[in-house]
Amino acid sequence: MAEERLEFQAEVSRLLDIVARSLYSKKDVFLRELISNASDACDRLRYAALTTPDLLSDDAAFQIRLSIDKDAGTLTIADNGIGMDRTDLIDNLGTIAKSGTGAFLEQMQGDAKEDLALIGQFGVGFYSAFMVADKVDVFTRKAGDAQGWRWSSDGKGSFEIGEADGLKRGTRIVLHIAEDSREFLDRSRLEHIVRTHSDHVAVPVVMAGEDGADNRLNRAAALWTRGKSDITDEEYKDFYQHVGHGFDEPWATVHTKAEGTVEFTALLFVPSQPPFDLFTPDRPHHVRLYVRRVLVSEGAEGLIPPYLRFLRGIIDSEDLPLNISREMLQSNRMVGKIRQITTKRVLSELVKRAKDDEEGYEAFWQSFGAVLKEGLYEEPDQRSALLELARFRSTAGDGWTDLAGYVSRMKEGQNAIYFITGDNEQALQRSPQLEGFRAKGIEVLLLTDPIDDFWTAGVEAYEEKPFKSVTKGGADLAAIGKEEEATDEPKPAPDVADLVVRLKAALGSAVKDVRASERLTDSPVCLVADEGDMDMHMERLLRQHRQVDMASQRILEINPRHGLLQGLEHMTAGAEFDDMAHLLLDQARILEGESLPDPAAFSRRLSAAVERGLTTS
Ligand code: ADP
Ligand code: MG
Repeated sequence: MAEERLEFQAEVSRLLDIVARSLYSKKDVFLRELISNASDACDRLRYAALTTPDLLSDDAAFQIRLSIDKDAGTLTIADNGIGMDRTDLIDNLGTIAKSGTGAFLEQMQGDAKEDLALIGQFGVGFYSAFMVADKVDVFTRKAGDAQGWRWSSDGKGSFEIGEADGLKRGTRIVLHIAEDSREFLDRSRLEHIVRTHSDHVAVPVVMAGEDGADNRLNRAAALWTRGKSDITDEEYKDFYQHVGHGFDEPWATVHTKAEGTVEFTALLFVPSQPPFDLFTPDRPHHVRLYVRRVLVSEGAEGLIPPYLRFLRGIIDSEDLPLNISREMLQSNRMVGKIRQITTKRVLSELVKRAKDDEEGYEAFWQSFGAVLKEGLYEEPDQRSALLELARFRSTAGDGWTDLAGYVSRMKEGQNAIYFITGDNEQALQRSPQLEGFRAKGIEVLLLTDPIDDFWTAGVEAYEEKPFKSVTKGGADLAAIGKEEEATDEPKPAPDVADLVVRLKAALGSAVKDVRASERLTDSPVCLVADEGDMDMHMERLLRQHRQVDMASQRILEINPRHGLLQGLEHMTAGAEFDDMAHLLLDQARILEGESLPDPAAFSRRLSAAVERGLTTS
């Protein structure tokens, strides 16, 4: 019979190389990974059999069976789940299909120590078998297929695949245990690992005894059906790692039962490490939906709002029909209700955590805040809870602040919550538009997530204080902080009305308007958006993503107290004045992070101006 030798995808080879080199301190995770996969395979067949009962034939009692052959030096893990055909084998065990593992590989340094720490965080699924085995054989026959297959590899660059006859349905993985891992041929060692880490697995896990009788190792009751007080943190963690395919600890656990119009149990986790696919465009979630203990889908649309897509875990409904299709799920009223109740419970848990564990909450926000803020934009119902949860960087200090904190620091006469959006905090801190606010001690929120431009446009206010961009509209600074600052109120600004008119004439349609600035104290000029126009950062963002290709006209604000402007005031009209006007505008564009429409003209004007300066001095 034809055996074929195939190369692993390059990434798999790299991964296996690291696995092999690693003196991983917790090698026993391989067993959890393989049992986790076997249990998934049973879940998937159970679901497929709802519509095609024949798939089960006469083998309907799912089971995961471990057996040891000390003489041959092998440990076998067998399941009667869905199995794999040839394509499945190549796709699942020869390439890296999981987005997480791909991204994990990108982060790898080639530095054994750091890579090892990463493996510890993310796990490597099936490939962890090569931590303890120098050869792995997989015998498998897919439910409904007549032909079985054998996959075999020493984990060094390639694998063999060929037909195998006489196989039972499901997958049998034979590990040829390496010399330095012989402890995994020890019955009591294996039993201990399964009892402690795989008890939550809902399929019975048995160990073949020396006398031929099977010995059941786990209680095989779905973890979420048990009472909270009966479940240890360790059990929650093992279950989280199973359903979340993660390797970190859950930062928060929400285990809740809803009764009434809809009846369901949710067991959801917030990871402590951000998953890798958090910002893929279709924003998938990975929560599993069970209907009366049968897994019907993972990531069903409509079950979890996209802004909570970092959640891992399960929801088990008592009411949904078992044969519900993916399309029906989306529009199902009951699913909507489940989403609503779950969302509320998760958010209130987060509110609680924010109060009880400030530091942990800030780490959570650092990882998932940008996702959660999408809810401000797309779920008005949860706005007030989300505004309460939100944390911000601001000009007031290095740490995070919440909105209540901001409001408590607002100045006399200030009635808006000021913010500025941009790509990074350091650049924002240097924005000329902040100068006037800083001079008056008015705090400004520094927003650097792309989503910030969107929610700030949609959310009107927090506790009746409107959000206001400092790069948009008038600054209205005169009315703020009058009393406290009255003593060192600066001299009235020189009148520049005439200069404004002349600049406007020189710049023509390149600007929407020119005006004397209230917000500048040090810089000569800055750009701002008109009240009704799109925010400048948002427009740049949309241009980058080719959502718009226009460039709105902006307002050029000039600083009447700045020497440059005062000098300009005395310049006579003519080509030189026009050049200076354009140089000012280009300078404002550069400060704003806009690109120059005509860099050649800018360079010519700048050279001419510098030359004039050098020759006259
Ligand atoms: P993950 O479980 O996170 O998807 P793994 O590396 O553990 O990643 O497994 C890769 C894939 O191989 C699984 O998604 C599944 O499709 C397939 N697979 C692994 N073990 C089995 C098994 N016992 N039965 C059927 N399919 C399996
Ligand atoms: Mg797995």
